[in-house]
Amino acid sequence: MHQAMLYEKLPESRIRCNTCQWRCNIAIDKTGVCRMYRNIQGELYNLNYAEVSSVAIDPIEKKPLFHFFPGSTVFSLGSWGCNFHCQDCQNWEISCVDLPQSSRKIQPQEAVMMAKEYNCRGIAWTYNEPTVWFEYTLDCAKLAKESDLYTVYVTNGYMTPEALDAIGPYLDAYRMDIKGFNDETYKKLAKITRWQGILDNAKRAKDIWNMHVEVVTNIVPGINDDDIQLEGIAGWIKEELGELTPWHVTRFHPNYNMTDLQPTPIETLEHAVEIGKKAGLKFIYAGNIPGHDSENTYCYSCGKSVIRRHGYQTMATGLKGIKCSYCGAELNIRAGKGVE
Ligand code: SF4
Repeated sequence: MHQAMLYEKLPESRIRCNTCQWRCNIAIDKTGVCRMYRNIQGELYNLNYAEVSSVAIDPIEKKPLFHFFPGSTVFSLGSWGCNFHCQDCQNWEISCVDLPQSSRKIQPQEAVMMAKEYNCRGIAWTYNEPTVWFEYTLDCAKLAKESDLYTVYVTNGYMTPEALDAIGPYLDAYRMDIKGFNDETYKKLAKITRWQGILDNAKRAKDIWNMHVEVVTNIVPGINDDDIQLEGIAGWIKEELGELTPWHVTRFHPNYNMTDLQPTPIETLEHAVEIGKKAGLKFIYAGNIPGHDSENTYCYSCGKSVIRRHGYQTMATGLKGIKCSYCGAELNIRAGKGVE
């Protein structure tokens, strides 16, 4: 348990948590929507500080991040709980639960040491929403930057701007979801009604904090696979984040409360890739279909293959530093010091 950072006191010992956009108004001895922040005697505490549900050494491509230190390994940490209750959650066993009686503890210093020991280039907070153990991710990120590790959030993007600004100086990559492009989809999938702030945060992460941003849309049949939403998402990315921003359109697999649906047809994903291209995006990847050609990176300028991927095997075949080795085009790749 750890004192929370972003909250304000309200009358009658209630508290407003300002960690995410729910801005929960929490009575004494109660928790907020995520079940990980509790009002204890009029102060707010985060319950899952350093409580780790999952730890792994992953290829960065698994996040997925395709233009950020390609081929590197990342020390990946997840905790418990979430501020969304997605009906298609792939990690519901850790996200849609209370904090268990006991779980593994990894303090920030230890996390950084482990990342170094396992030769990882960075640390990612992933598997569950990083915002619901915000103080821990912030402490880790500060130490990680001191140790020359990169830092990654895999997020639904629903933190408050205050939270984003607090971690902004220490966060290098922001892998965010845009789940749909209308109220109904966000309500159906994530049980939230106001989603514009998610888009605002992505822009803020890029424009103010210079984070590397990649976007994922998991395409769920009948929910967000219509042209209007896909065109809306692709157009928004192009206009607000830029045409070189990678967009991953991933295949839905039936899970959690959505086992009655079929996996996304491959043609739907291919159609989404075409929509992205038409909108003017240069890098659109169809995900969760290993071996599909759209996992590879082609230079938009000369058309040559520059990074080949199969599953989580990555080979940079046409990069000179972070540019296309054939024509010198800028590919929006970040690869750290000494590479360019
Ligand atoms: S982090 Fe949790 S308690 Fe805080 S506002 Fe979000 S859902 Fe509510």
